[in-house]
Amino acid sequence: MISRKPLTVLLILFLWTSNQLFAQKNPKRVILLIGDGMGLTQMSAGFYQGNGKINLLRAKYIGLITTHSAFDRVTDSAAGATAFASGVKTYNGAIGLDTSGNPVPTILEIAENKGMATGLVVTSSITHATPAAFAAHQKSRKMDEEIASDIARSGCNVLIGGGNKFFTNRSDLLNYKDTMVAKGYSFINNINYLDSVFNEQIACLCYDEQPPSLLKGRNDILVKGTSKALATLSQNNKGFFLMIEGSQIDWGGHEMNLEYTISEFMEFDLVAGMAFDYADTHPGTLVVVTADHETGGLALTGGKRPNDPVEGKYIWNEHTATMVPVYAYGTGAESFSGIYDNTDIFFKIKNYLETKNR
Ligand code: MG
Ligand code: ZN
Repeated sequence: MISRKPLTVLLILFLWTSNQLFAQKNPKRVILLIGDGMGLTQMSAGFYQGNGKINLLRAKYIGLITTHSAFDRVTDSAAGATAFASGVKTYNGAIGLDTSGNPVPTILEIAENKGMATGLVVTSSITHATPAAFAAHQKSRKMDEEIASDIARSGCNVLIGGGNKFFTNRSDLLNYKDTMVAKGYSFINNINYLDSVFNEQIACLCYDEQPPSLLKGRNDILVKGTSKALATLSQNNKGFFLMIEGSQIDWGGHEMNLEYTISEFMEFDLVAGMAFDYADTHPGTLVVVTADHETGGLALTGGKRPNDPVEGKYIWNEHTATMVPVYAYGTGAESFSGIYDNTDIFFKIKNYLETKNR
């Protein structure tokens, strides 16, 4: 008689190993970084500015996405973010609605329904088009106060950016600071208070409307906000969804100001590096870095190697329809290589959140 014991041991070992493999393939923590207006040239400009040492080079899997919206080849940030957040093509200006005006569930809401923690960290008002499309449903990106009402009710755990006045100094005289504090949020307006807040729910809206550019002295809301968000959201053992936006890479393009674009890119790249480091020390974390569109039709046009400053020209002060890059790192990064549509960012992340083996 042949003993069955070795077979049983082998079977258990096989099951355990395949379980481990599955566990590694399906992330339960997702960090989506959006460089608003960050095309390949913006990244290349940062590459030369940083003497070839930028964090995005660490990405293991690279893709390209098309960014057109439902009716326009050139998207705006509202339709672009709605594509990432909800997987639908919509009209320019729409926040979390389809082309018929119906609200579409967002990846942040899906994560929340699964008991995961959620967060938004941005260098614009938290009501600005990109973050808004993850936590609000309104027919126009211009409706900051209505978007703030949606965000206040969204249940999103960590909200860091500008836009304080859309919550606290409103035309309808409602004060969402009070309602959010009543719901358990720490609601602060100064980045320096962030270190002393230890709460699962934090709103740190430290500018009244839009934060200034880094060149004009913005505080380190993005870096401090990211590390606070990671520390806070990490406490949920079901995982988290965190969206971090370098909002003003785009604004440098609208101003056709290369120094503005590059400085915002460099800070965004620093934060991408923080996310990659986090993924290194927290297996089961996926980091996806991409852009909603390119801004300015930027081209790099000269400079002597190795030390000349980066020279570039914009073709205009608006967005363009060129494909933009996707950089993926960590658990599950492999499914982000290839050429696909911006809406697929949503479907790829959603697939991971809906898999059992996380
Ligand atoms: Mg934006
Ligand atoms: Zn723009």
